[in-house]
Amino acid sequence: MAFLQPDRYFARVTRISPAEDLVGCGFEFMLLDMDNTILSRASHDIPLDVKTWLRQVREAGVGICLLSNNWHSTPYEWAAELDLPVVAKACKPLPHGYIAARAKLGAKSANTVVVGDQLSTDVVGAHLLGMKAYLVCPLVEQDLRHTVVLRNFERALLGARTPEGAQACTGDTPTR
Ligand SMILES: [Mg+2]
Repeated sequence: MAFLQPDRYFARVTRISPAEDLVGCGFEFMLLDMDNTILSRASHDIPLDVKTWLRQVREAGVGICLLSNNWHSTPYEWAAELDLPVVAKACKPLPHGYIAARAKLGAKSANTVVVGDQLSTDVVGAHLLGMKAYLVCPLVEQDLRHTVVLRNFERALLGARTPEGAQACTGDTPTR
């Protein structure tokens, strides 16, 4: 079931090479999940290596829009700090949030990749609109209860698939 499988699967968001896996694959734009993709559910902060990776992605010329299902003020606060556009309350995998985020960037499905830590939201929503999706392992295991339940089903779907860069995965790096 290719629809329910990510196009690529990485051990941590920072294992996605801006030059090789984004620009080199024809992606000019990225719709980026926040919770447990770049923002730790444990520390409620963006790890330092992830902040560095975000800077490298932008320096590579890839436009980023944050795309979050979070209903709190957090996505807006981080978007302001990172100086990135954001679509929150996105209700992924429903299409309207993706469409709004893509419009903010002036992007098309063909040159956009969706990056997130959940199959049932980030990946399925991307595929509904014909976009490629990179799944990443969550920064930490700690998450909302319903997300943890969903994650067990998602791991069953992934089966024995091994994330790229697993050997270099460092876990939840302190931010300060
Ligand atoms: Mg997430």
